[in-house]
Amino acid sequence: MAKYLIVTGGVVSSLGKGITAASIGRLLINRGLSIRMVKLDPYLNIDPGTMSPYQHGEVYVTDDGAETDLDLGHYERYTGQPTSQKSNITAGRIYWDVLQKERRGDYLGGTVQMIPHISNEIKEKIRRLEDESPDVILIELGGTVGDIEGLIFLEALRQLGADVGRDNSMYIHLTYVPYIKAAKEVKTKPTQQSVAKLREIGILPQILVCRTEVNLTGEHLDKLAMFCNVPRECVIVEKDVETSIYEIPLVLAEQGVDEQILNHFRIVRPSRPLKDWQKLISVIRNPKGTVRIGVVGKYSELQDAYKSIYEALYHGGYAAEYKVDIVKIAAEDIETNPAILKTVSGLLIPGGFGLRGMEGKIRAAQYARENNTPFLGICLGLQCAVIEFARNVCGLTHAHSTEFDAERGVKTEHPVVCLLEEQRNVTEKGGTMRLGAYPCVLEKNTKAFKAYDQEKISERHRHRYEVNNHYREQFEKNGLIISGINPDIGVIEMIELPDHPWFVATQAHPELKSQPVLPHPLFREFIAAAIKKQLMENPS
Ligand code: GLN
Repeated sequence: MAKYLIVTGGVVSSLGKGITAASIGRLLINRGLSIRMVKLDPYLNIDPGTMSPYQHGEVYVTDDGAETDLDLGHYERYTGQPTSQKSNITAGRIYWDVLQKERRGDYLGGTVQMIPHISNEIKEKIRRLEDESPDVILIELGGTVGDIEGLIFLEALRQLGADVGRDNSMYIHLTYVPYIKAAKEVKTKPTQQSVAKLREIGILPQILVCRTEVNLTGEHLDKLAMFCNVPRECVIVEKDVETSIYEIPLVLAEQGVDEQILNHFRIVRPSRPLKDWQKLISVIRNPKGTVRIGVVGKYSELQDAYKSIYEALYHGGYAAEYKVDIVKIAAEDIETNPAILKTVSGLLIPGGFGLRGMEGKIRAAQYARENNTPFLGICLGLQCAVIEFARNVCGLTHAHSTEFDAERGVKTEHPVVCLLEEQRNVTEKGGTMRLGAYPCVLEKNTKAFKAYDQEKISERHRHRYEVNNHYREQFEKNGLIISGINPDIGVIEMIELPDHPWFVATQAHPELKSQPVLPHPLFREFIAAAIKKQLMENPS
């Protein structure tokens, strides 16, 4: 039977609960256990697919096409294990399904209530993961204890523990231990109150992970153990890390978190050093150099809007033992200040929707093409590169994507990017997005093929528009290389430029599959090319 490890958060949000849960997942895998991770989100959206990056950060997409919370990105990056539709459960989805059952008559005669109907639905959705027979199911509850919308989830998690029994469930509480500068004192009271709030609901946490900015002394730990009713060895300190969030698995391992979990579940597995992570951290701490990469986006001021892109860039740097200095370039600023493009050794255009910033992005692609600056275009980034090539190389001056026709108030003269339906000349609107993993066949002798070192690849997608195949011949005649094609529907997946150090773009989102200990090949090669350019220009 699967063991349940349940992570809740207290005091404040933004403590890095997802990273902590993912790091614990990594430690369990290192002990030879199979795990599944699931994120519970108490908001009422069915999924985060429709939420703006201002609200929610990046939307993470799984192989099976679920649009999910970005914490699933942390899970995959730390554990190396794919997540799926089942791994993200929102309150919206729970209510939606219960109300549909009610309308169908599934509860006929009964009064439909929060308990048991909503709580049962939550438990059933979590327990679907048992079908995959993992040793441990690791659950992270979004939000903070005390949130009204999280209450029913806590109740369901309490019941889950009772259903499977004490030996098969364990609760971990991530909390904040502040240092009050004026008093020069560490305060344990918020944690005590947060744990008391959990106890009120009937959940007794067995491990406390304390986020703090300062070192905690033995006295603090004794106090936390005593007042929160947790064994002293189960009070874990997670102080702010100096260099990288990827240190967290090592920080937790040092304090024996995995040992405590295994002891509780009475599982005996030998402890093994986290060799690949130790090596990773030593690379992160002692880089050979720094390379500056410009990311030309629309949400440059937000930390989480391009989360996986930024992480994948760092990973690409790790492969070369370099630190990546990310320069966040607001696409709109390029129109007035194109000189900023000269300050970086590589340019990346990430995915996106909407007209704002498009001309700046197109200008960035042109700059990269004309100045031999290594370039990686992702999804909308590929579409920008194609529009730029059509306009400035093929002479199709008004080339654009039909995505922006409505916003621009014109019908594009040369729709080099458009909906598949438009390419096929049918009028009705088809399915909306291409979501999830799709295959792609790479052309041999291309940079893409060399990077992946295989012919058939699979990457995740999240977009509606495609490069218009009617222009393919014209593109190729003018020197664009089509390096990847979807074998089933024939659409263009990857393009590149010859006679350029590294200009590659993909319709997919390869950043979603990059791991710190296994950098994605496109990011690895892109960073390598940028380092080469930097070394050529500034030999040291
Ligand atoms: N807006 C573009 C489309 O829908 C690109 C989407 C993206 O970059 N994820 O095709």
